[in-house]
Amino acid sequence: IRWTEGRGWHDARLQPYAPVPMDPATMVLHYGQEIFEGLKAYRQPDGSVAVFRPDANGRRFQLSARRLAMPELPVETFVEAIDLLVAQDKAWVPTEGEQSLYLRPFMFATEVGLGINRPANEYLFMIIASPAGAYFPRGIKPVSVWLSQEYVRAAPGGTGEAKCGGNYAAAFVAQAEATRQGCDQVVWLDSNERRWVEEMGGMNLYFVRGTGAGAAIVTPALTGTLLPGITRDSLLTIAGDLGYATDEVRISTEDWERGNADGSINEVFACGTAAVITPVGSVKSADAAWTVGDGQPGAITMRLREQLLGIQTGTVEDRHGWMHRIA
Ligand code: PMP
Repeated sequence: IRWTEGRGWHDARLQPYAPVPMDPATMVLHYGQEIFEGLKAYRQPDGSVAVFRPDANGRRFQLSARRLAMPELPVETFVEAIDLLVAQDKAWVPTEGEQSLYLRPFMFATEVGLGINRPANEYLFMIIASPAGAYFPRGIKPVSVWLSQEYVRAAPGGTGEAKCGGNYAAAFVAQAEATRQGCDQVVWLDSNERRWVEEMGGMNLYFVRGTGAGAAIVTPALTGTLLPGITRDSLLTIAGDLGYATDEVRISTEDWERGNADGSINEVFACGTAAVITPVGSVKSADAAWTVGDGQPGAITMRLREQLLGIQTGTVEDRHGWMHRIA
């Protein structure tokens, strides 16, 4: 679907996957006006196909568009576009358990010009799709994380809350540092004090305080510098449904290390569309390193994972109407 100043949205079409020819002076190539989303369609037990919370992704897409001075696509149009594409590609939705059809909606500035005084006046919104295997085909493996004190992902007033390409471009160098340190993933801290835990490279974080039925499931509060994950939001609801206390808090790296040492923080996990839920097994920074709990996937982490995946794959009741059926 195209957007042109003065004309609005027009020229919606479904077409075979193909390259997008571009003039070398296309604005997105120079100034990075680009936003995207990621969501999944899952095969249901009766053979039908359903997409997990596309309206929530549509709303976040609007939030990203506002921050990047781009036109807002109506949520109904976003969902309708997903309906059309997935209906066309139904045969590509895998039939096995945790496998899915990954959907990637995105929008970028297509105006040709090198001026920087105003946003582009032409945009293209597209969705592409690709079958995705189970994230852990050989069993759940906890990840090791590196606390990034050198680089920050987002600063107050910046684009941290938006899902824009540039945020990820700026993250590669920190991810490479994490890899050099022998860790799987980077954990971002706040830009000011470099001690408040924000999120991971492509996932939000959760901490389990206490054990058993009295455990509280807490996640860093949305401060404007982290991405409001749809999985994060869904888990606040699911944890509540299961009877756990939930909270959105500020948590520092010292709180984490201390809580880990005194046994009050027993499980930590990351959550996002791609991996759904990934346990965090160990932590490393420039001046500290610790194993989370016993380093193995925790009981509450696995229970939440089972519930959420169960809703997505249609084996657990969808109490909140999150699964959007494709006709
Ligand atoms: N944080 C970042 C930086 C991400 O890229 C993602 C993936 N979209 C998430 C968190 C998790 O968001 P969601 O649950 O909507 O996939």
